[in-house]
Amino acid sequence: MSLVNGSVYRNGKFYLEDIYMSDQKITKIVPSGEILPCKEVVDCTNKLVLPGFIDPHVHINLDLGEFKSSDDYEGASKAAAFGGITTFIDFLDPINYVNEFDAMLKKKKREAKASYVDYAFHTAVGNFNDDVDELIKISRESGIPSVKLFTTYSESNRKISYAKFQEFLKNSGKTNTLILVHAENDEMIINANVEDTIESYESSRPAASEIEEIEKIAGMVAELKGRLYIVHVTCGSSVELLNNKYKELLGKNIFIESCPQYFHLTKNLYDNENGSLFLLAPPLRSSKEQEKLKENISVIHTIGTDHCPFTKEEKMRYKEASKIPKGLGSLEFSFSLMHHLFGNKIIDKFTLNPAKIHKLFPKKGIIQVGSDADFVIFDPVKVLYIDSSHSQSDNNPYENMITTGMVESTILRGEFIVKDRKFVAKGKGHFIKRE
Ligand SMILES: [Zn+2]
Repeated sequence: MSLVNGSVYRNGKFYLEDIYMSDQKITKIVPSGEILPCKEVVDCTNKLVLPGFIDPHVHINLDLGEFKSSDDYEGASKAAAFGGITTFIDFLDPINYVNEFDAMLKKKKREAKASYVDYAFHTAVGNFNDDVDELIKISRESGIPSVKLFTTYSESNRKISYAKFQEFLKNSGKTNTLILVHAENDEMIINANVEDTIESYESSRPAASEIEEIEKIAGMVAELKGRLYIVHVTCGSSVELLNNKYKELLGKNIFIESCPQYFHLTKNLYDNENGSLFLLAPPLRSSKEQEKLKENISVIHTIGTDHCPFTKEEKMRYKEASKIPKGLGSLEFSFSLMHHLFGNKIIDKFTLNPAKIHKLFPKKGIIQVGSDADFVIFDPVKVLYIDSSHSQSDNNPYENMITTGMVESTILRGEFIVKDRKFVAKGKGHFIKRE
């Protein structure tokens, strides 16, 4: 197959080029002009040809007991395909002991067979009190050079101790492993002492609890180095603090991820009658923090979605914020929403940056000969009216929003999975081993 006459995104610029692919890989890139003989020629005139997007942060089939997130691999990967995402990274369930790892990996691999896009996993730990070196060793041997930990959720025994946190950090520098952290200050949350309502939800996990925790753990990185990736940063003040105080560590020892919901939704939604539809952790923030987040977009390395939708009925089942399942679905609209705000400077945060940080590069995240033939054909002027989604959840937080720019087609390893807004996937995604 070939993609001809498109504006091809390479090295941060656009070139009028034709791309040829075979056996799932990119085989040739030449200036547009004469079209070489090829089985299928796809005309991309006036379209942007981008590398397939990578979402480094999704939760699929997340089981919370009373609730299970709405999307299984079939639904999530379909939504992803419509959003131009050709690879996503899910999390194994958190474990406290090394010997639980195998079962968690097997379970996820079984579930993920239904995926239409390529996938990888992060290992996750709760109140882990076992051998850090051993866990990282077996995780890496399974193609998973990343471990996620939590500095909060002590009530469900998921909070890591700071001593163990530091062990993970030290190991990460030696083994080149990525430590992902959900950073909120547990004590501040436990002592927040606010009513258990939707209206008070943001104050129960306040902005200060994120900012304070990020400052603390950045201090540890300054001392111990290592590779720390801070997931779902919600506050512009957090990003500003990192940029002011720890600039030399950014992009080397500390990586920052944020999510589309923190750029498009604010905590004012919690005052509405249907506010519980927008509950997630960490919460949506004030418009002031949101503005600051936008101002600091250039400091943020990646955009992940933290995709974890529930149904409207589940989100509305209780009046108490603590009882409502937290999480929103963003896979399908993440890129269009962010491109609408920031234009082409957002592309690397969906492609090259996550590929490099999460070790999918150069297989993924770049258009070059030898890389996987994963592409998004993006129409930058077409208007997308968000009415329904392809997720299995009926709760779409972006309903009725409009973006300029639309993912028209998505190609995974040389095959269309979405073509002209129609789902056409014939094959399945692969598990991507990372080193
Ligand atoms: Zn998450």
